[in-house]
Amino acid sequence: MSPSIADNIARVRVQIQTACQAAGRDADSVQLLAVSKTWGPEAVRQAHAAGQTAFGENYIQEAVDKITALCDLPLVWHCIGPIQSNKTRLVAEHFDWVHSIDRLKIAQRLSEQRPEHLKPLQVCIQVNVDGGDTKSGVSPQELPALAQAVAALPRLRLRGLMTIPEPAETPEQMRAVHAQAQALLESLRQQGLPLDTLSMGMSADMTEAIAEGSTMVRVGTAIFGRR
Ligand SMILES: *Cc1c(COP(=O)(O)O)cnc(C)c1O
Repeated sequence: MSPSIADNIARVRVQIQTACQAAGRDADSVQLLAVSKTWGPEAVRQAHAAGQTAFGENYIQEAVDKITALCDLPLVWHCIGPIQSNKTRLVAEHFDWVHSIDRLKIAQRLSEQRPEHLKPLQVCIQVNVDGGDTKSGVSPQELPALAQAVAALPRLRLRGLMTIPEPAETPEQMRAVHAQAQALLESLRQQGLPLDTLSMGMSADMTEAIAEGSTMVRVGTAIFGRR
């Protein structure tokens, strides 16, 4: 029999603990975000039964259907995929967090559309640290101005940064990219922004990301299986 979702979550948690120990960090300084994209509500229920509460989704309409189907559970939903202007209202109304802010216009719409009765939307800015050209994210040069502008929006709360590095050849190369992201977060803190979140590391590079200061790892395949 293949391992259950509960087995997988237990194994990933041990991996996080081990990586924290190796890095001299508290085990509770790294949160596990279970990336449930393409998996149905039943898989999320199984993960919740194993103690998992934070879930990440990429595709907005799929996510909203799932969030609605699971509204009986106390889950925290994170949007980690690209957001087009015509989807901001759905995101503002259904998610707790957004990791993928890379343009002021999207952030402004989310702030305007965040319903009054909900807490401010918790957000991270996605930064393209290694200059990979296949994906979104603001450049390190543009980051400080965008961060200050997003931090000033009334219905958003800027928590930190998110990165999706290109796969690297060696663990050392991976760590070097992660270290750059950590340095960018630190420089924003020195500019007075009270940031506490570095969303960095996936199934393949979790250990390296934790060694370089990640506070949230986003894990899909290692929990739910191959998509
Ligand atoms: C799919 C996805 C993940 C999870 O990736 P796995 O390799 O399945 O762990 C993490 N972050 C983002 C932004 C994703 O799109």
